[in-house]
Amino acid sequence: MSDASDGRGQLRAHLQFYGELGVTGFSRDPRWRRRPPVAPGQVETGAAPLPMAASADDDVLRVPDVAEDSLRSQAEQADALASLQAHIGPSCQRCKLCALGRQQVVYGVGNPAADLMIIGEAPGADEDVQGIPFVGRAGQLLTKIIEAIDLRRDDVYIANVIKCRPPGNRNPEPDEVATCEPFLLQQIDIVQPRVVVALGKFAAQTLLQTDTPITRLRGQAYPFRDAALVPTFHPAYLLRSPDKKRETWEDMKLVRALLRGEAR
Ligand code: SF4
Repeated sequence: MSDASDGRGQLRAHLQFYGELGVTGFSRDPRWRRRPPVAPGQVETGAAPLPMAASADDDVLRVPDVAEDSLRSQAEQADALASLQAHIGPSCQRCKLCALGRQQVVYGVGNPAADLMIIGEAPGADEDVQGIPFVGRAGQLLTKIIEAIDLRRDDVYIANVIKCRPPGNRNPEPDEVATCEPFLLQQIDIVQPRVVVALGKFAAQTLLQTDTPITRLRGQAYPFRDAALVPTFHPAYLLRSPDKKRETWEDMKLVRALLRGEAR
């Protein structure tokens, strides 16, 4: 098959995917890429404000003048993320997952000054091998979801609540979350996203400190640190339940509106 026909095939596949999501048109308007400020409390949650996530524990790296509100440049944010990654170390042994078959710590990837941060649960098998979040089939679907709101994967920052693969892809346990989540919270404070997407029940419930089902959490935004947090379904769930793509698209339209300053 020629390159041209390959390209047409990829285009058809993309259009089919967007059609399944309910996308009926595409905007070339670049205005949404600007960064209008979103005032704290501007997000309408439709529910009582939820408590802020727990603060970092004593083991979290103190990054002078960068984890506060003095971040000025993408380079400083990249340096701060690198310092935190070095602090965690390539063979972290702070929780029991280090001895339960994980191959490596999966830190985070993407734009260190991203407006949008996407957070999943934990690395899976592909991520454990490659050391990068969301690189398997679910990751490919996530890339399409990101592109559906006119962003590139490189525009966003992607991480997980915990950084090592639980055995058999079981849910992370409370002691593992308590140990590892503070590192994620510091990543969030360094990147300073305006919008956070929590993928799936585990990430949404952990970050919002609630046991409300994802089906009730999704569809709205919540104040979270200095950002608006939008829960939605995990791409791995969408692979099993493609009928949920339309609801995910509704959530992503909310994300796009928040990024554009068009939603409150
Ligand atoms: S999950 Fe987090 S705290 Fe536990 S070993 Fe991995 S990096 Fe360290």
